[in-house]
Amino acid sequence: MDTIGKIFSQLGEYRKQTLLAPLFTLASVALEVAIPFVMGILIDRGISAGDMGQVVLWGIVMLVCAAVALVVGALSGVFGSEAAVGLATNLRDAEFKKVQTFSFSNIDKFSTAGLVTRMTTDVTNVQNAFQMGLIIATRAPITLIVSMAMCVFLSPSMSLVFVVAMVLLGAALFGIMFHTLPMFGKVFERYDDLNASVQENVNAIRVVKAFVRERFENKKFANAAGELHDLFVAAESMLAWNNPVMMCAIYGCIIALSWFGTHAIMNGNLTTGELTSLFGYIMNILMSLMMLTMVFVMLTISAASANRIVEVLEEEPDIVSPENAIMEVPNGSIDFENASFSYRTGTGESTLDSLSLHIESGETVGVLGPTGSGKSTFVALISRLYDVSAGKVEVGGNDVRAYDTEVLRDAVAVVLQQNTLFSGTILDNLRWGNEHATREECIAACQAACADEFIDRMPDGYDTQIEQGGTNVSGGQRQRLCIARALLKRPRVLILDDSTSAVDTATDASIQRAFAEQIPSTTKLIISQRVSSFGACDRILVLDAGRVAAFGTEAELLETCDIYRDVYEAQNKAGSEADFDPLEGGAVDPLSQRYDPAFASELAAAGVAVAGAAAADAAVADAAAQDAAVSDYRSQERGE
Ligand code: ADP
Repeated sequence: MDTIGKIFSQLGEYRKQTLLAPLFTLASVALEVAIPFVMGILIDRGISAGDMGQVVLWGIVMLVCAAVALVVGALSGVFGSEAAVGLATNLRDAEFKKVQTFSFSNIDKFSTAGLVTRMTTDVTNVQNAFQMGLIIATRAPITLIVSMAMCVFLSPSMSLVFVVAMVLLGAALFGIMFHTLPMFGKVFERYDDLNASVQENVNAIRVVKAFVRERFENKKFANAAGELHDLFVAAESMLAWNNPVMMCAIYGCIIALSWFGTHAIMNGNLTTGELTSLFGYIMNILMSLMMLTMVFVMLTISAASANRIVEVLEEEPDIVSPENAIMEVPNGSIDFENASFSYRTGTGESTLDSLSLHIESGETVGVLGPTGSGKSTFVALISRLYDVSAGKVEVGGNDVRAYDTEVLRDAVAVVLQQNTLFSGTILDNLRWGNEHATREECIAACQAACADEFIDRMPDGYDTQIEQGGTNVSGGQRQRLCIARALLKRPRVLILDDSTSAVDTATDASIQRAFAEQIPSTTKLIISQRVSSFGACDRILVLDAGRVAAFGTEAELLETCDIYRDVYEAQNKAGSEADFDPLEGGAVDPLSQRYDPAFASELAAAGVAVAGAAAADAAVADAAAQDAAVSDYRSQERGE
């Protein structure tokens, strides 16, 4: 009941249509039920009495009733559609707005595929059920009641026929529904699985192609679709019995009525006109019954969808700005005090374990660590994308939880590993960083991020259209645009989460130089797999299994930190850009047949292990030397 209330509270400006639709339905039903009655009069007073004047008169009355019923019925359909489509629009809108308030951990709870299904398929289910319910749930019961009353009024004894038919039909329909509804419940669960699998496949299509997994994916999809097909066929076959049962009831009634009616007419207890009216009403009664069962099925099916929508609407965002929030981040200093964190949806183990460290405002800090050591989680806590489970994180000397979240996130710019561009021009994308940025400011940011040289080569320069997801720029170009976008925020803290992985070493170095010159007071955190990215860093933080393994200058780390020294030597020995972890290194994109390190992140994100080491985009690497370096590191890790 609560769910229905919550769904209807989204009707908003469509309340008027929601009221008008059943009102117009009511009017059209009233006219429709009058028609068999008028027909009876026409037969008795006109045809039986041989009075042509009466035939014409009642014929015109019938025509007017039918015409008005048609117009009013059509209008009720229009209002019904407007109300249902309006409700769906508002529901989608409300869900979308709610999702914008979600923290990462709220999104983790539902999963991206789950949220998409809840905003599309589930809303469509509710829309269809509402549209059907609005018209038929008014029409069917009223037609049923009025037709039954008319039957009793015309001939109480003849009405026994429909009572018997209704009991039999009701029992049969109930039996069918009883078996069908649980089947439909399962059908919609399968829909969720199917949607999730399609979304996963389409998102990771390049990975599927890289691993020649098309046949496997086809089979996986065919199995899921096959299961859905079987369930649907079983449910629909059961439901198909509705029709023959209905027909049996209708023809049974016609035969019984003809038999008993003829006798009643011969005995003078019924007129021919009354019998004709009875035929009409009995049809109405049985049809209404059938429609009611259909509405019942539809409403039950959509109840699951309505619940899923309400779950999203009722989800409390777990990261919100406090009252009297601090509205300015004074500087870019960062402090972790015994900060621990574990993911709600994870294994429950601590991803970060009692981290304590201090970073000065304006310092440039490199962050290094094996995959899964908690680097991305570490930086996510700084812009409060997640809240710590224990301890605290401070930016500019204040707890991040004390800031207005928008103020904090404006001050802490993060260029994520999985960076995304949106459809629109390059300038539009850059202005995500600062909507008021002038063209000149955008160009300056692109120069700092070394993005200007490739933008200048594009046909429309800064006005070049970016396709959805940024598919018409390379991985490295996308990364540079995202860095420029973050720079436009003029942040207190700039975090690059492995976001120069697809950029060659020389460009990487010039980006770092530009940072040092153009944003000297901004604290810079640079997560990278390659030690060469740390050239401009004041200090380097080494994370291992969610703990600080070491934190100091490069010279100190080379002295004291085994992990750093091993990686440093492995990468320098290879004389190339051998990566810290081969799984996140790079891969050859089968579509372009070119090496694309960003594609490697995609593979890693899809949970696929890439065999073989990386070959950098511009700096040509010696694959054999890299393999040796990496296996060297691995053996050392294993203590061999
Ligand atoms: P890194 O950036 O060093 O590769 P992450 O911070 O991404 O490491 O991940 C640290 C650990 O947390 C990993 O074991 C990973 O599986 C887990 N993890 C990361 N993101 C999530 C998430 N959204 N939900 C549950 N576990 C996660």
